[in-house]
Amino acid sequence: MEDCTFCKIIKGEIPSNKVYEDDEILAFKDINPLAPVHILVIPKKHISSTDDLEENDEKLVGKIFTVLKNLAKENGLKNGYRIVNNCGKDGGQEVKHLHFHLLGGRKLEIKV
Ligand SMILES: [Zn+2]
Repeated sequence: MEDCTFCKIIKGEIPSNKVYEDDEILAFKDINPLAPVHILVIPKKHISSTDDLEENDEKLVGKIFTVLKNLAKENGLKNGYRIVNNCGKDGGQEVKHLHFHLLGGRKLEIKV
C-alpha cells in the first residue's frame, strides 16, 4: 500500500523507534504514548484491519501475540498490561494497517 504510514515505516521511509523485528513482524514505540510503555506491533504484510484477516493469517496473528507477550516481559510489565486492537471508524482505528497496542507501566483505567 503506497500511502500507508505503517508500510512506509516497514520500508524505512519514515523513521521509527524499533523494539522488535523479524521477517514477518515489526514492533516500535508509539510516537504519542498513552502509557509509560506504549508499543505498536504490526505485521509486515499489509492487512488493512481485523476485518481483512484471512484464514491463512491465523498463524501470523498468533505469532504477533507471542511477540506482544515477550515485549511485555522485556519491558517489565509484571503487574499486567493491555493489548488493544481498534477496527474501523467506530472502533477508532487511525491507521488502516492492522496493529496491536501494548500498553502498560501504570494502572490503566477501565474504559470501553
Ligand atoms: Zn500498510
